[in-house]
Amino acid sequence: MVEPNPCMTCGACCASFRVSFYWGETDAASGGLVPAHLTEAIAPHRVAMLGTNQAKPHCIALQGVVGECVSCTIYALRSSTCREFSASWEHGEPNPTCDRARANYGLPPIPEPLTQPFV
Ligand code: SF4
Ligand code: SF4
Repeated sequence: MVEPNPCMTCGACCASFRVSFYWGETDAASGGLVPAHLTEAIAPHRVAMLGTNQAKPHCIALQGVVGECVSCTIYALRSSTCREFSASWEHGEPNPTCDRARANYGLPPIPEPLTQPFV
């Protein structure tokens, strides 16, 4: 049986931190994917997802209600920052930053799986 992806009912990391990355990942650059109009410049060579460079971050691409049901409207085009961020235990170890984001919204840390899936 496959466990449901906990991120589908969370989204806390997309609404807790500044999500920044090299501007060359945007479609303003050759080969870039992230829609540039959804980003803002924060440094000469860096951009951030709109909505995340503020006191109460909330990525413009996040749809839904944090802690209930969410999705990323640019999932296939998201930056390396988003792609490389793992939920706790997704790769067999906790991610304290995931836990901290969830705590921002009153969500408990994702529990350590009791059993390892068969491979
Ligand atoms: S905070 Fe963790 S569980 Fe929640 S969406 Fe981000 S990676 Fe997934
Ligand atoms: S681009 Fe998508 S995955 Fe990345 S922070 Fe925004 S909503 Fe989350």
